[in-house]
Amino acid sequence: MKVAVFSTKNYDRHFLLEANADGAHEFVFFEPRLNSETTALAAGFPAICAFINDQLNAETLSAIAKQGTKLIALRSAGFNNVDIKAATELGITVVRVPAYSPYAVAEHAAGLILTLNRKYHRAYNRVRESNFSLKGLLGFDLHGSTVGIVGTGKIGMCFAQIMKGFGCNLLAYDIYQNPDCLEMGVKYVEFSELLAASDIVSLHCPLTPESHHLINPTTLEQFKSGAMLINTSRGGLVDTEAVIDALKSKKLGYVGLDVYEQERDLFFEDLSLEVIQDDVFQHLLTFPNVIITAHQAFFTKNALQNIAQTTLSNITDFEKGRECKNTVIN
Ligand code: NAD
Repeated sequence: MKVAVFSTKNYDRHFLLEANADGAHEFVFFEPRLNSETTALAAGFPAICAFINDQLNAETLSAIAKQGTKLIALRSAGFNNVDIKAATELGITVVRVPAYSPYAVAEHAAGLILTLNRKYHRAYNRVRESNFSLKGLLGFDLHGSTVGIVGTGKIGMCFAQIMKGFGCNLLAYDIYQNPDCLEMGVKYVEFSELLAASDIVSLHCPLTPESHHLINPTTLEQFKSGAMLINTSRGGLVDTEAVIDALKSKKLGYVGLDVYEQERDLFFEDLSLEVIQDDVFQHLLTFPNVIITAHQAFFTKNALQNIAQTTLSNITDFEKGRECKNTVIN
């Protein structure tokens, strides 16, 4: 099938071409993002391969549908950037990669926790400058601390396993209870109870209308004083300005983010010579107890291989008229 790949980076090209070694599909790679201004690039392509910052809103979808696009193959698990209702009405099938490496994201969340707690970034720079002082590097034992996991699906489950290995007490909040988590000894509680009892709160639920700004001034009030907030899920789960207020009042003691609500204007690009216009983001960067990574939690070679292979098999299923288990249903 002829597939237009948007938001292409070198690594996307490498892993997609490797997975397509038999030439089953014809990929054409475009660096720009797909949005209402770039739809002309998709003309003549029955399939589009998109990533998280491609804006597949009703306007974009309507334009590509008119040009003959029938399939959107997302290289991501999350699909909050696609208007699924509009896609369904326009007869466009949307497929995704529901699981490519839950370990990659869970391990990155654990990495953010360790870095915030033990300040590896500071220690690394200090030792390189022959500053062997321990001042300001004091951490706490993860063993015995309470970790609240919000969303215990594939990634939340892996994260629970990792934190159990550290000897943490595990609490969880989810709209469904995961039997594997229950078996592991995770205790499900109400959201407010989780917030009040946790030293570390880690978000692993999808961004939906219900979960938008799940972390807001009211829920931040319920946190344990000095707690750590980790978000490797989606930026929109968190009201960033409320988080800044909570950092200033010391309600939050540490914040680790791999995602940010306005990341579309920043992440995945080298802006080191630009003036960043986002004052909220710039403010976040000034806190010594905040670590931000630029949506890299998924970024392992295992994950990229799995994304490429599943994307290929999703496209093949569609082309051959087979039922695809990874179809996103409205
Ligand atoms: P999953 O579908 O396996 O699990 C999500 C869990 O969240 C489910 O158990 C679901 O019941 C629960 N949930 C849904 N709405 C909820 C709510 N309002 N409150 C509490 N729980 C709720 O998904 P997953 O594979 O574990 O991925 C989780 C999220 O991680 C994805 O939606 C995506 O946004 C994010 N993600 C981020 C990266 C990254 O690189 N940073 C990579 C992959 C996925």
